[in-house]
Amino acid sequence: MSQNNQLSLLYEGKAKIIYQTEQSDQLIQYFKDEATAFNAEKKAVLSEKGILNNYISAAIMEYLAASGIKTHFIKRLDQRRQFIKRLTIIPIEVIIRNYAAGSLVKRLAFTEGALLTPPICEFCYKNDALKDPLINHDHMIALKIANSAQIAYIKEQALKINQHLINFFAQAGINLIDFKLEFGLDQKQQIILADDISPDSARLWDNQTKQKMDKDRFRQDLGNVVAFYREVAKRLQINFNQSKDEKA
Ligand code: C5P
Repeated sequence: MSQNNQLSLLYEGKAKIIYQTEQSDQLIQYFKDEATAFNAEKKAVLSEKGILNNYISAAIMEYLAASGIKTHFIKRLDQRRQFIKRLTIIPIEVIIRNYAAGSLVKRLAFTEGALLTPPICEFCYKNDALKDPLINHDHMIALKIANSAQIAYIKEQALKINQHLINFFAQAGINLIDFKLEFGLDQKQQIILADDISPDSARLWDNQTKQKMDKDRFRQDLGNVVAFYREVAKRLQINFNQSKDEKA
């Protein structure tokens, strides 16, 4: 038996690995240092990134849980691993945008940094072969991804999470530009926030200098990627003290 009941690998993604545990309703989420962009056309290993994302995502999930949002996060286990609830992932990525950036600028010629009021909610179909295309309500129904009530609930939750996260990052002098969420269903068919929220999956700009503090530093070759992730963690007052039994 391996440490902390970690059993076989269940799924390996670009930046994370999911392991089974002895408890059928719990999994372990492991954060890797690998970074990918542009549908994995660009790749690198960014030493320490996985550790920072584990801590940052744990802090965000704890804040959201304290704000009344149901999440899959149970607890951080060590530097790179956290216990999560086993869910059936709904194969959509929910993107909330407060300011124009990234694909929205490319697709619809918004000016980067333009304020979007109200925030824009987009859905993408999680499908690597199709390169995660944009998808609408009717497509999701036709593909039996979710029903109308579920789609409405997911959008409502995502916008609530956005309000909490805007406040969370504002206290750290950071503007939340946009971010991606994933949801899953538990055994009672409740819709629960899944995956992780980190500078890999959210655009974060310093609210004074407008400096990018997220994965765009990697995508756009801006340099100092991990140093900026570390700065995000520092401003969120994340405590990296570990207990004796923790291992990287
Ligand atoms: O590239 P785009 O502008 O559509 O991304 C919007 C937001 O969603 C960004 O914060 C990006 O990091 C995140 N995202 C993600 N995973 C994807 C696509 C987008 O985390 N597969």
